[in-house]
Amino acid sequence: MSEIERAAEVLRTGGLVIFPTETVYGVGCDATNAEAVARLYAAKGRPQFNPLIAHVADLAAAEREARLHPTARALAERFWPGPLSIVATRRADSSVAELACAGLTTIALRVPWHPTARALIAAFGKPIAAPSANRSGRVSATTAAYAIEDLGSDVGAVLDAGTSPIGLESTIVSVGDKGAATLLRSGAITREQIETVTGPLATAGGSIEAPGMLQSHYAPRAHLRLDADTPRAGEAYLAFGAPAPADGLTLSASGDLVEAAANLYAHLRALDATGAPVIAVAPIPAHGIGEAIRDRLARAAAPR
Ligand code: AMP
Ligand code: MG
Repeated sequence: MSEIERAAEVLRTGGLVIFPTETVYGVGCDATNAEAVARLYAAKGRPQFNPLIAHVADLAAAEREARLHPTARALAERFWPGPLSIVATRRADSSVAELACAGLTTIALRVPWHPTARALIAAFGKPIAAPSANRSGRVSATTAAYAIEDLGSDVGAVLDAGTSPIGLESTIVSVGDKGAATLLRSGAITREQIETVTGPLATAGGSIEAPGMLQSHYAPRAHLRLDADTPRAGEAYLAFGAPAPADGLTLSASGDLVEAAANLYAHLRALDATGAPVIAVAPIPAHGIGEAIRDRLARAAAPR
């Protein structure tokens, strides 16, 4: 039996699987099995009101779970497969367990492009509910080793495909029944790219509509000091557009935002592991994927 087949078998029996996607590592379960979803929440230590993204094979599979407004369909056609999650009205006969949608009338759907994720979804044949493979409140795992560190004892299989190519969670856009599009979470598909399809986007106001926007999400143990041009005594420093200093790391020596996104969580974990009480982070420009990097940093820095 192939590794993928074995992992699909774990999903069929209600177990959990760590698997790679282009964004970050996910911990997945059978989205149609409420008991498996409950086990997943328990493993993550995730608040139950935080809904999960259902990963499906293609647009047709997504349309079996949600009613997609033409604007949502246009987004799917433009950006799937890829790092975009679309929130739309859940169909009454959706196969996805209500628990996975946290009882909301909406559902979040995504078609990833990562070949291992696609192979697993194809082998399993049903939607896979998968949040990031980290314990709730910790930074997302961008390697299988980090995922195992957080969740290893609770999973039945691990698919390892090296470091996550993008390194940040998916962009989330909700499209209402009337076609109104709202950016719920920034990501590698940038606001500018989404707006070429939807026109000007509203930005979510941090309501429970998007619980991924909980303030202290994605948090290391150290405190973060943002937009820091230089470190102070005793701080670990995360540079950008400059080489790594003696007491720190650089997100990208050349100032490349895509490289910075890919390094963000691994570097936060590494600096956290030094035991420094504060991680000072260089200013990151807000354009392109920089918006998503700044968003995750702001959450990691939020009081908790
Ligand atoms: P994660 O699985 O860690 O990438 O987080 C998934 C995020 O998707 C959640 O924290 C929510 O913000 C978002 N999400 C999932 N389903 C919905 C939904 N029905 N409505 C709004 N946001 C959703
Ligand atoms: Mg997460």
